Amino acid sequence: MKKTFFYSVFAFVFFTQITFSQVAEDPEIKKMITEIKAENLETTVRKLVSFGTRHTLSDTKSKTKGIGAAQQWVKSEFDKYALESGGRLTAEIDYFEVKADGKRINKDSKLGNVMATLKGTDPTDNRIIIISGHLDSRVSDVMNIKSDAPGANDDASGVAAVLELARVMSKRSFSATIIFVAVVGEEQGLIGARHLAENAKESNWNIMAMLNNDMIGNSLSSGTNLRDNTQIRVFSETIPFLETEDEAKIRKATSRENDSPSRLLARYIKTVTEQYVDQLKVKLVYRNDRFLRGGDHTPFSQNGFTAVRFCEMNENFDHQHQDIRTENGIKYGDLVEFMDFEYLRKNTCSNLATLANLAWSPKAPTSVGIEVKNLSNSSAFFWTAPEGKAPYGYQILMRETASSHWEKTFFVKDTKAEMPYSKDNYFFAIQTVDELGHASLPVFPVPIR
Ligand SMILES: [Zn+2]
Repeated sequence: MKKTFFYSVFAFVFFTQITFSQVAEDPEIKKMITEIKAENLETTVRKLVSFGTRHTLSDTKSKTKGIGAAQQWVKSEFDKYALESGGRLTAEIDYFEVKADGKRINKDSKLGNVMATLKGTDPTDNRIIIISGHLDSRVSDVMNIKSDAPGANDDASGVAAVLELARVMSKRSFSATIIFVAVVGEEQGLIGARHLAENAKESNWNIMAMLNNDMIGNSLSSGTNLRDNTQIRVFSETIPFLETEDEAKIRKATSRENDSPSRLLARYIKTVTEQYVDQLKVKLVYRNDRFLRGGDHTPFSQNGFTAVRFCEMNENFDHQHQDIRTENGIKYGDLVEFMDFEYLRKNTCSNLATLANLAWSPKAPTSVGIEVKNLSNSSAFFWTAPEGKAPYGYQILMRETASSHWEKTFFVKDTKAEMPYSKDNYFFAIQTVDELGHASLPVFPVPIR
């Protein structure tokens, strides 16, 4: 009897007070989700299709056709939302010159990304989140600048999501800054995204996350005829493109192959999507992008930023990059009639849950370490509170080594914790959290002796 008592007290003292985390829900995020409308997304996609082609090298002078007219229209939409944002949202076209490259740019050209910045309200918070879609479109021949290239799904769907999120979110105030952007030059070699990523690196932007949305509104596969509007794929790099020698050493020593910052972001997206968006699951794909293909998040990853790609579950190659035509009874072309706007709405809401939780989250803990002084079947962690206002608390995420997603979440108030779980058998990460459940991106601990 006495012995039992001793052990229970011992356990209490030895292991920090840990409770299973309660899932807090923010009513404001739920409200914003209801404000995202499939009708608005459809109106935007139809408007973008009306420009004929949005090829990067197409007409820039016409008011109604070509990439120039499309850019001006997206900017004018951002400007409309800016009027209701109390001066916090500002829009611009970020023009830049590109030289002919003998490949997909056949003459020196002036290109422009259309951007709207929703400035964060906390002057001590320099974190930035970028969400993108690409404005340009193409047909079978990537150099064809004349034929109609509706690009309803690729990627008017992504641009429509960006605009709808800017409309809803610019009515609210967030601690961190959100940049909504419709980039150009995707089909010509990710040129607009690369320009933005390189600018961001040069200007030392503190980018917390970059969310690329490219083809998020089609739910029927070609060839295999699979229909699925209940899942969205999120692609994230496994080994970071940009990794220092020291980072590689620690990754190998701690078996961190499946916990790159981008993978931690992808899991975060899965958590908040499945919390806030009804009838949508996030399918994590363990690669930077689809097999041998890339997207606008890639230049961000290559410049060392945390970036992922959202993409529909099943692609339709009868519609992607195709001249509009009918052959053997099959209709080709990226047309509005093939879109699933309810699916596009849910995928936009997945982005919303991610952006809002991140932009309201307390800053992440720093110096997150796992103690390895002695061999032990428990795991002890130490970290430093972020600068500024103390967070409500911390969540320790845990999963078995062969599991894709976090399985348990523990809550602690302190900046250290010791848990009766072996670091040999589990992976852990630590995040800050506020009273409404907004959590920072998790930080993977490094060994500390
Ligand atoms: Zn695309």
